[in-house]
Amino acid sequence: MDQPGVRKLLAERLAAVEERLQAACRRAGRRREEVTLVAVTKTVDAAVAALLPELGVFDLGENRPQELWRKAAALPGTVRWHLIGHLQRNKVAATLPRTTLIHSVDSLRLLEAIESAAARRQSPVEVLLEIHAGLENSKQGFRPDDLAALLEAVKTLRWTRLRGLMTMAPLQAAEACRPIFAALRRQRDQLKRQLPPPHDLVHLSMGMSNDFEVAVEEGATFVRLGSVLFDGLMHDAPPSWRN
Ligand SMILES: *Cc1c(COP(=O)(O)O)cnc(C)c1O
Repeated sequence: MDQPGVRKLLAERLAAVEERLQAACRRAGRRREEVTLVAVTKTVDAAVAALLPELGVFDLGENRPQELWRKAAALPGTVRWHLIGHLQRNKVAATLPRTTLIHSVDSLRLLEAIESAAARRQSPVEVLLEIHAGLENSKQGFRPDDLAALLEAVKTLRWTRLRGLMTMAPLQAAEACRPIFAALRRQRDQLKRQLPPPHDLVHLSMGMSNDFEVAVEEGATFVRLGSVLFDGLMHDAPPSWRN
């Protein structure tokens, strides 16, 4: 597919996703502005990702820090980058200046590494805590039992601001994910009451291509969409598209 073809396809997919987001918001009595679409560009190269801001989507997500750095260098500075995958502590310092929001803080040690790096930069960082949703082959994320210890640690933070929770539901029928999303919302509400400013847990990052409408109905403020936008674009791109 040539570049105009890819752009046209992406524009059509974005329009279809937009309609589905609006319908889900209507069903839930929510305003569309309450939900941010994060386009997950991990399967496409920078040339395809660069079409997103041209089409009006400025929130882009990557699950690997190095890939985020690479694409952030190639795309306009107007893009807001979201890190949605595991962050190794030795990559924190290089990731902070390039990232608007880290969705995937999955351990206390990582939280502490982010706090020290933010203190060195004298610049606040916004993060979400990743909550383990029972994914069998995933070790990442806090368990509900971890949250008490976490609360103590969070009280010592000066530069790191907790803005909400993130989870990844297992790949299954969307309706089967509803209890997971509802539980995340309850955990968020509870933590929000327990954590004083500057923390403010307004966000729920939940919902992927398979289940985003249910996530919006259950209160998602970020949906992270990859395949529904980019299916087929990874392999169809001719060599000139690769860098
Ligand atoms: C890849 C990825 C997504 C997007 O998944 P799709 O099912 O392709 O929409 C969302 N969140 C995370 C953490 C991911 O790694």
